[in-house]
Amino acid sequence: MALIEAASPHTMNTYGRLPIALARGQGVRVWDVNGKQYLDALAGIAVNTLGHNHPKLVPALQDQIAKIIHSSNYYHVPNQERLAAKLVELSGMTNVFFCSTGLEANEAAIKLARKYGHDRGIDRPEIVVYQNAFHGRSIATLSATGNEKVQKGFGPLVEGFIRVPLNDIEALKAATAGNKNVVAVFLETIQGEGGVNPMRIEYLQEVRLLCDQREWLLMIDEVQCGMGRTGKWFAHQWAGIVPDVMPLAKGLGSGVPIGAVVAGPKAANIFQPGNHGTTFGGNPLAMRAGVETIRIMEEDGLLENAARVGAHLKGALARELGGLKGVTEIRGQGLMLGVELAKPCGVLTSRAAENGLLISVTADNVIRLIPSLILTEADADEIVAILAPLVREFLGE
Ligand SMILES: *Cc1c(COP(=O)(O)O)cnc(C)c1O
Repeated sequence: MALIEAASPHTMNTYGRLPIALARGQGVRVWDVNGKQYLDALAGIAVNTLGHNHPKLVPALQDQIAKIIHSSNYYHVPNQERLAAKLVELSGMTNVFFCSTGLEANEAAIKLARKYGHDRGIDRPEIVVYQNAFHGRSIATLSATGNEKVQKGFGPLVEGFIRVPLNDIEALKAATAGNKNVVAVFLETIQGEGGVNPMRIEYLQEVRLLCDQREWLLMIDEVQCGMGRTGKWFAHQWAGIVPDVMPLAKGLGSGVPIGAVVAGPKAANIFQPGNHGTTFGGNPLAMRAGVETIRIMEEDGLLENAARVGAHLKGALARELGGLKGVTEIRGQGLMLGVELAKPCGVLTSRAAENGLLISVTADNVIRLIPSLILTEADADEIVAILAPLVREFLGE
């Protein structure tokens, strides 16, 4: 593998990086500074929705940069209204707040839930969150996250979270029984960092019903699983439900930093002027990226592509790996797939990279595939052709 000369002495030591520096990309291919080519099944962690150097996105962004990059929320940003209207149309919800990252979108959701409680006379509002959840790394969102590695060393954590297991409605009812302080249930439709763990459709429907009965907000973090990745605009739409609050980020701008909190009628009017804001949120460049990403996804039929190629990829993975003893489960939907192994397999990220494939391993033992939504069936076959022998060799099967 082409090595980048060791360390970065001046950046903080926050990431266990591979010794690779990517210099350019085209579609689902990227090249490092030494000219080595990779097939990109990571897409910048589910960010590069349209792949790299998309022929429709790049000129639009160049046009925007030449006009205005940033103006501040002292003024109207016309594309904020345009992107908000589009997200409202696609989600069946009503209003949007823009920010720049996933944790910021979740932070805003947590603030919405708390103020929803305070507005109803609940002084110590509590939010239901899930085992293995990941909501970000600010103090509030890492407190909502269900991973001790993320929390360790950063206490005291923010209080007001109740943690429950996935897909267990009785456990949710028991954990909240008689508790008048509960204001919201906060979940990922498919947990990403937690190991590609889907919520069952019936469970989502039951939670929606319970939230309606108890007047709780249903807040669905679609930062990773949303924006078409599963073959619908938002993964919860497979359950036919509509949340009250939906944080978005990652894929919404095809690589330009952007976050959004979409709210339905129960949550749309909670924030009043002065309650929330952010300097970069809704800036003209990010808004243009969001508007163009959705336009291109619609024009190019990328939802349908994600569903079709995702099913093809899952089928190929099942065929090549499903029978191995060391493969516990192959799960996920569309182009958000996980292959769980019976033992930790972090080493596979570098082995795959050596063999020209970019993937990630999450939750220690889940190979995660979250490529761009422009992936073709031939690309999917190539992913499996590189990955399957590595997994077999790793498992010794
Ligand atoms: C990545 C992620 C976040 C955090 O997003 P950042 O942009 O890294 O702050 C939050 N929730 C989910 C589900 C994510 O996958």
